[in-house]
Amino acid sequence: MTSTNPTRSTDPIPLVDLAAQHAQVADDVARGWSDVLSSTAFVGGPQVAGFEAAFASYVGAAHCVGVANGTDAIELALRALGVGPGDECIVPANTFIATAEAVVRAGATPVLVDCRADTALIDTDATFAALTPRTRAVLPVHLYGQMAEVEALTAILPPEVTIVEDAAQSQGARRHGLGSGAVGRIAATSFYPGKNLGAYGDGGAVLTSDDALADAVRLLGSHGSARKYEHSTVGFNSRLDTLQAVVLSAKLRRLDAWNDERRMAAKRYDALLAGVDGVTTPVVDAGSEPVWHLYVVQVDHRDEVLGGLHAAGIGAGIHYPTPLHLTGAFADLGLRSGAFPVAEWLAGRILSLPIYPGITGAQQERVVEAMAAAVKR
Ligand SMILES: *Cc1c(COP(=O)(O)O)cnc(C)c1O
Repeated sequence: MTSTNPTRSTDPIPLVDLAAQHAQVADDVARGWSDVLSSTAFVGGPQVAGFEAAFASYVGAAHCVGVANGTDAIELALRALGVGPGDECIVPANTFIATAEAVVRAGATPVLVDCRADTALIDTDATFAALTPRTRAVLPVHLYGQMAEVEALTAILPPEVTIVEDAAQSQGARRHGLGSGAVGRIAATSFYPGKNLGAYGDGGAVLTSDDALADAVRLLGSHGSARKYEHSTVGFNSRLDTLQAVVLSAKLRRLDAWNDERRMAAKRYDALLAGVDGVTTPVVDAGSEPVWHLYVVQVDHRDEVLGGLHAAGIGAGIHYPTPLHLTGAFADLGLRSGAFPVAEWLAGRILSLPIYPGITGAQQERVVEAMAAAVKR
């Protein structure tokens, strides 16, 4: 009903609206799901293999291994590299908890580092300063849809330290011509419904061009078994469901068009917000082509501004309100307030505005009007 009516000027505007995406793939999904239902083969099958091949080729990696979610993808990538107890993995303090959680689950120690004040991405100098003889991996997070400065990281890292990309928010992003998921030795991504390429439930994938690493991830994710009932190691049950593979194949065909819509929406916000004092719009590095998973501005008095937006029916959010070292989950790292001044400063200023394929110019104008009013107050 509502989708056929023009948006009224009082309708709430959510942070993310998946309805327009679903409308475009609904027929493909119904047809594909009906095939799966009639075959009653719900795990594996040609749908999963077909999606893995299509996504690997989209990313520019030799292999894509579907897994149960993005957190598993990071953990399995680390385990495939042989990362475990006694090893350190460098993770930005400003990220979703999954990045550091996966390090702990692999048995290793997360070493948090600060981020850049402009892009909020992992800081290369801080990463360099955090290197120790125990460092095995660095996990740059391509946060908000913009790739971290992987080329600068590569230049400072000793050869034995591996880059494991957290590409959960950056499907389709590029930087100096290289695609997200194909610049490190191995990468992990998530198909959580709200990601740029989202499933209808949980899903994730590991991407790599290293044949042995791909085999190791596949083995670990299917009970340590390459052939039925032969188990060479103790593994996990972490696979991409057949029904989700159908959704993801249908959506992958439209991902570039949807990312273009996000780019247009970001450009429109940039232009509209240029006229609003007190709002810092997102910074994009030269050579970087973000896919705007989130559109994150900075403001003073953020909580008041957020309250004003919510009162006006605008679904703004914060990504993320608490840097990892100040969460209860990582209290045992023993890091106090002040440990990462940039991440802490940003956590009090960042504000994510609604962005998704299908957001209209009229909706964005309402968001910006509400911003202007909230910032002035
Ligand atoms: C979503 C996300 C993950 C984890 O993905 P799940 O599929 O929810 O496990 C990891 N890292 C980042 C930065 C994310 O945004």
